[in-house]
Amino acid sequence: MFPASFGYFAARSLEEALELLTEYGEDAKLLAGGHSLIPAMKLRLATPRYLIDLGRVPGLSGVRIDGEALAIGALTAHADVASSAIIRQRLPGLADAASVIGDVQVRNRGTIGGSVAHADPAADLPVILTALGASFVLASPSGKRTVAAEDFFIDFYTTALAPNEVLTGIRVPLPPSGAGAAYAKLPHPASGYVVVSAGALIIRQPSGQCASARVALGGMAGRPLRAGATETALQGKALTPQVIAAAAAKAAEGSDPIEDAYASAEYKRQVAAVYARRAIESAAKRAGQKI
Ligand SMILES: Cc1cc2nc3c(=O)[nH]c(=O)nc-3n(C[C@H](O)[C@H](O)[C@H](O)COP(=O)(O)OP(=O)(O)OC[C@H]3O[C@@H](n4cnc5c(N)ncnc54)[C@H](O)[C@@H]3O)c2cc1C
Repeated sequence: MFPASFGYFAARSLEEALELLTEYGEDAKLLAGGHSLIPAMKLRLATPRYLIDLGRVPGLSGVRIDGEALAIGALTAHADVASSAIIRQRLPGLADAASVIGDVQVRNRGTIGGSVAHADPAADLPVILTALGASFVLASPSGKRTVAAEDFFIDFYTTALAPNEVLTGIRVPLPPSGAGAAYAKLPHPASGYVVVSAGALIIRQPSGQCASARVALGGMAGRPLRAGATETALQGKALTPQVIAAAAAKAAEGSDPIEDAYASAEYKRQVAAVYARRAIESAAKRAGQKI
């Protein structure tokens, strides 16, 4: 399988990448790790006339604490997210998700920004980033804007990114003490992509009650879904296994899961409850709850 022929630019700065995007518009595609775009080009599902490679643009990768948030450069590879000492210490749920993406090669080449911009409904990072209340920094020739995850992911492979914008970074609020986050995934046995997954952020009061919960599901719709009924059922309750199981049983409430040859909608509803429970239990344990 060969892609259609295309022109290639290796941008040396963000400004140059933005200039090229402005010049070539929808004829151009940004290239990050290439692990979604190149397969799509080989299958001729994408036929950009020009590729603008971000790989040599300085300042787009790395993880640092910036005030009350973790700032992750868009070009940071999945393997670097998974192994980052800051992430493992402050947001291990995000490291969980990055560490179960594909295989070693995919994790070494694929980037967090590429995963988010591609918005595959079977991807891992959009789910945990939604649970963590992340936001995305988008640069265009007219400046920068920040979009919350829930406004960024619109539908299958569709985001709030405009054709002249580059995703430069991801901001994840640092959870307060007494918080824990986790991610649990049922991978497809052949592809390893998400069949159903769940990300959870639990903030626990010293008394053991749930001060707040954010739970997001993957593989259920064209974008990550918040499990609102589960979150409400946890709010203010003691984080016991019984309470968590009863809340997780509501995970798929109000959803209309996408089906495929491997998983029916009914199967996904059942699996969503199981994986939501696993993610919430792990998050509650990380928040200090004895379960
Ligand atoms: C064999 C295999 C297994 C995989 N398994 C999994 C899995 O289990 N879970 C999972 O989540 N993913 C999986 N992936 C996908 C992988 O995570 C990709 O790396 C990721 O989805 C895309 O990141 P990338 O850096 O490779 O982006 P690219 O392929 O370079 O780009 C993807 C899209 O995003 C756009 N883009 C990239 N960067 C930016 C940016 N900074 N600003 C704006 N637009 C941008 C590109 O123009 C393109 O449209 C797998 C891929 C392969 C090949």
